[in-house]
Amino acid sequence: MIYRTVNFPIFSRIDKGIIQNLSDIIKEENLFFKKVAILTGNYGEKLVTEKKIDSHFQDVVLINVRKCKDISYIRSFIIHKKAELILAVGGGSVNDISKYISMETSIPLIYVPTILSNDGIASPISIIKINGNYKSLGTTPPIGIIADIEVISKSPKIFLLSGLGDLISNLSAILDWELANREIGEKIDIFAKNIAFSSAINILYNFRKGKYDTIFESKFIEDLFNGLIMSAISMIIAKSSRPASGAEHNISHAMDKLNIGKLHGIQVGFATLFTLYLHGAKDILEDVLKLYKQFNFPIYFTSLEISEKIFIEALKLAPFIRSRYTILNKLSLDFIIAKFEEFKRRYIKCLTF
Ligand SMILES: [Zn+2]
Repeated sequence: MIYRTVNFPIFSRIDKGIIQNLSDIIKEENLFFKKVAILTGNYGEKLVTEKKIDSHFQDVVLINVRKCKDISYIRSFIIHKKAELILAVGGGSVNDISKYISMETSIPLIYVPTILSNDGIASPISIIKINGNYKSLGTTPPIGIIADIEVISKSPKIFLLSGLGDLISNLSAILDWELANREIGEKIDIFAKNIAFSSAINILYNFRKGKYDTIFESKFIEDLFNGLIMSAISMIIAKSSRPASGAEHNISHAMDKLNIGKLHGIQVGFATLFTLYLHGAKDILEDVLKLYKQFNFPIYFTSLEISEKIFIEALKLAPFIRSRYTILNKLSLDFIIAKFEEFKRRYIKCLTF
């Protein structure tokens, strides 16, 4: 008897110049669509109109979701045009809107990312602006994700760093999940946990083997792409963001509340250093620090452009930001602040003013 169903991406592909062969790749996956709605941002629109993307579909409508912001209008337009596929080309917000419309219309979605900044790439969650406020909504993930290494390697470095931070944060998030399992008996899904862990540890493993000289290297972009998809899949299996979101995400949500306004992956990637320290995971922490330093990930308050004082405010707020048990709930606030001073002295000494 089937008592549980999951919506997974059917395929993912990454290669150099792959966007020139989009329609062939989709056919190779035994997927056939005549009418396609291409949803883009400004950069994605440029790729399509300058024919840098192959769109040899029989019937195509192009919608720039940055210019046409009315989601219900886009949805009605796509239904009216009888689109059989939504092809999203762009960054996270294009994907979020496309996932949401895909869920509402039941039209399958294939995502072509132009940046890799977080694990929303294949997750069943969309951050959508409703009545001026951003809301996190359950959606359906894309059926396929196709990334072009040449496009991603030309994206601003900060987005790759953000994707790295969001992926690395899994290493801390699963320690929180294990802790919640021990301390309050929260159910843990070992399958989802193992996928979340291996997606992130693979990056550290290949870094230790000397496989990445720079962040723009094909091997790193491939590992990041595959890791972010696996991370999203761990959330689909767990039916929760738990495998990829623990105390470091609570700190990031608190930073959002305090209007710090940095990229999600940069915030969680930075907070992960401290939450790994609180968990006593010093070997992993030191490897992550080496990787961050090699890629120039912002690990100092000066490079993050936030004050230490406001980060401490975020630390104080984080345990209460949502009902998710983490290391920040187990330890007292005084102890956490004392540990933060110790962490600073050991790892980010001299550069915290
Ligand atoms: Zn995240």
